[in-house]
Amino acid sequence: MKKLVLATSNQGKVREIKALCKEYEVIPYTELIDAFEIIEDADTFKENALIKARAVYKALDDENVVVMADDSGISVDVLEGAPGIYSARYGGEDANDKDNLKKLMQDIEAKGVMSSPAHYTAAIAIVTKGIEKTVHGWMYGTALTEAKGEGGFGYDPMFIPLGYDKTLGELDEEVKKELSHRSRALRLAGKILKSL
Ligand code: IMP
Repeated sequence: MKKLVLATSNQGKVREIKALCKEYEVIPYTELIDAFEIIEDADTFKENALIKARAVYKALDDENVVVMADDSGISVDVLEGAPGIYSARYGGEDANDKDNLKKLMQDIEAKGVMSSPAHYTAAIAIVTKGIEKTVHGWMYGTALTEAKGEGGFGYDPMFIPLGYDKTLGELDEEVKKELSHRSRALRLAGKILKSL
């Protein structure tokens, strides 16, 4: 089985990517080398995904390894696209998923509304010997000022995908696997992986 090294140790993402890339042995890079800080200072999801994939590829020091990185986030219309690329740090430098979720719900409520159109974006970068590729996926829906359900991770309890009336925290994991920004980007990434 071919090895696919992920430039993340986010358990939620690792779980989702493993479920979608069954033909690969999916390994978080932290199982191969010590975790190190990667400064994601670009201003697009795509460039940030490339920064992560390049950094891990270089650190692994094995030119044949295939590294995949994702950069993702939620953009809320009533907040003019925020938090966007700042989704992971929205509640502050040391914020966890719960802090971020709370801040986003409060900021939407502060605009005097109970919900807003919103979308998730995922950019995936694949880096291996002489190759750098990127793909994107999006999921549109509604961001709420109330969290519902325990499923998923991050902002999922406050997000209702288009065509549904429950949040990703309440819906079955299978639904997210079908619709999500990351699943959509991963399907495209799968085509690239097959062609390597
Ligand atoms: P990244 O790890 O730099 O890509 O940061 C992504 C941020 O967006 C984190 O705060 C995640 O919690 C959030 N995020 C990305 N994808 C999802 C998702 O599928 N569900 C919920 N939150 C997500």
